[in-house]
Amino acid sequence: MTSEETAARARRLDELPLREELRGQHPYGAPQLQVPAMLNVNETTYDMPADVVEAMTAAVRAAALGLNRYPDREFTALRGKLAAFLDHGLTAEHIWAANGSNEVMQHILQAFAGPGRSVMAFPPTYSMYPLYARGTNSEYLAGTRDADYRQTPEGVAAQIREHRPHVVILCSPNNPTGTALGLDVVEAAHEAALESDTMVVVDEAYGEFRQDGTPSALELLPGRPRLIVSRTMSKAFALAGGRLGYLAAAPEVTDAMRLVRLPYHLSAVTQAVAEAALDHSAALTANVERIKVQRDRIVAELTRLGLRPAPSDANFVFFGGLVDEQAAWQHLLDDGVLVRDVGIPGHLRVTAGTEEETTAFLESLARHLGRA
Ligand SMILES: *Cc1c(COP(=O)(O)O)cnc(C)c1O
Repeated sequence: MTSEETAARARRLDELPLREELRGQHPYGAPQLQVPAMLNVNETTYDMPADVVEAMTAAVRAAALGLNRYPDREFTALRGKLAAFLDHGLTAEHIWAANGSNEVMQHILQAFAGPGRSVMAFPPTYSMYPLYARGTNSEYLAGTRDADYRQTPEGVAAQIREHRPHVVILCSPNNPTGTALGLDVVEAAHEAALESDTMVVVDEAYGEFRQDGTPSALELLPGRPRLIVSRTMSKAFALAGGRLGYLAAAPEVTDAMRLVRLPYHLSAVTQAVAEAALDHSAALTANVERIKVQRDRIVAELTRLGLRPAPSDANFVFFGGLVDEQAAWQHLLDDGVLVRDVGIPGHLRVTAGTEEETTAFLESLARHLGRA
């Protein structure tokens, strides 16, 4: 479309009887550019193993024979496999799943937030949180962090007690900064939540990439009825295109999700692909260790280049110290390396890819800084 056509289209959109809070807003949209090193949305960049492709193909073929019927609305087999993968004494009764953790989060807000209710998150954090709030007509409350983007048990609990949000989202490891929370923060949040009728969601989309010794909030689930731990197959499982996110929580929380989900929201094809992936979880997550090596290499090399990378428990690195992050972003793109400008001056975020992609990123950035 020409810019005139784009403007005319925007005018026609504005003439529609749209909800007021959607007027002038923009959809989520990280650039989807085809370049040699696409390191901007934290996907696993290794190819899908051939035997897993075969298993998924066979599973989809089997599912195709029954596509005249609605799928298992309860996706019972899939919930069982997700529970077995998470371990921690969890069963299918503790698991809910949807089309990406984005939809899981929407279900949570539909059940516990909504008109007249509020959602609190702590920027800089995942840019989708305010959009989930907007889409469910919930008020979005931006909490605060301490220096170096840190969150303390006292700070989080005090903000929950003061604002009494209906849902609090803790992102750990946090996107875009990469750092995981101590369990003391989650415990303090849950304790405050019990007093203020708040649900606490820990978004562990990058949980599988944690540094050794960093615990998961899954450990805290027993005896904590207001706690929800959200996970996804999009990152460590290398299944971003399969769209499967899930949560673990008390069984009654999954019953709350059943009240808001559309019937048959997980297609038979989605269930078949996700189950085949879980049957091959070892092969699919085998690259996690290799990715962690590249992540730690990025942190070391960026430090050597005089930049300021944040410590990372994730499959990406957030770094500051750039004079002009937009110029650096463009220089990298001209070299075929797409990274993420998260809108924080002097900073960029890069996904840890294969060794070759990481080398391409580091060499291009060194040239940009005149350090090659
Ligand atoms: C990538 C990401 C997700 C995953 O979303 P899906 O819908 O499961 O693909 C969730 N939370 C955070 C913080 C993320 O960065």
